[in-house]
Amino acid sequence: MTRVNTVLGTISAAELGFVAIHEHIGYGMPGCELDSRWWKTPEARYEETVPKLRLFRENARPWGAATFVEATGICNGRDIDYYKSLSDKTGVHIVASTGFVGGDTALPFFEQASVEYLTDQFVHEITVGIGKSGAKAGIIKVGVSRGFKMKALDKRIYRAAARASRISGAPIFTHLSVDSQPALDIFAEEGLPCHRVLFGHADDGVSQGKINEQALLASGARIGFDTFGYDLELPDPPFWGRHRQERLQHFLRFLREGRVHQILASADANCSPLGWPGVKGHTVNYLFEQLIPDLQAEGIGAETIDKLFIRNTAEFLTLQPFSDATPQPHPGV
Ligand SMILES: [Zn+2]
Repeated sequence: MTRVNTVLGTISAAELGFVAIHEHIGYGMPGCELDSRWWKTPEARYEETVPKLRLFRENARPWGAATFVEATGICNGRDIDYYKSLSDKTGVHIVASTGFVGGDTALPFFEQASVEYLTDQFVHEITVGIGKSGAKAGIIKVGVSRGFKMKALDKRIYRAAARASRISGAPIFTHLSVDSQPALDIFAEEGLPCHRVLFGHADDGVSQGKINEQALLASGARIGFDTFGYDLELPDPPFWGRHRQERLQHFLRFLREGRVHQILASADANCSPLGWPGVKGHTVNYLFEQLIPDLQAEGIGAETIDKLFIRNTAEFLTLQPFSDATPQPHPGV
């Protein structure tokens, strides 16, 4: 039986339906809740968020259910009780993350945390629950700190994530695909097969030319085209934006090279950003309103679209623990 952890309980992968693999209910830097300009009442946050999730649920109806993977992680505004309430109200499955967006967004409390401590923390959140919420995390977030280079804490977080993934079976997704060699080395050293890792933001405007796509593909990792919709054509685009056609053609190149099994797509939108204005006009629903029509116009068929948003995602999110008895590939064999 397949199992996926959502904030309202563990379900079968067959129940996920259409999956947006990297999204945010609300992401903010640690401490944003202390800024009085950006302090939103719970009512204001609900008002901004519920219609977007309801529309997501409606848009996903042809595929059955709707699943929103919340990529915020520890320290950046993760709020499990709030996610539970949103999921209950809107009928959208929400998968929460353990882990950190990057070492540089971890609070000072975690600065000196050891790999063993971090592994225990991640495994606890996936197998026992997050705080007193009763909800279990379904995926592990890791990332590269600002500066496009992995720092010491980033590396400890990646190693702990690899160990926690082997123990709990939860997959890993990364913030950024740059400086990937240390990550690939860590996953190899820890015996975690790279198809359990989604290297994210491979499509963003600032990472182009800095990603070793060949090394990632050769490792068997999954590649995330997960910033769809941050288009430079928007009235006020963010610094990581990219021309819509350029991103689309990049994605199509992977599809036409027969890499569909290795790629995943999402929008990385915020329903209600925390402590920053967000990007106006960008929501998870871009996937239905722009991306899928763009793919269809390029001759991409329903089977490929189902693979991207239903089958790849279900396979990736399914908990797959590796026991020590599981034979591991060994160098030289
Ligand atoms: Zn994100």
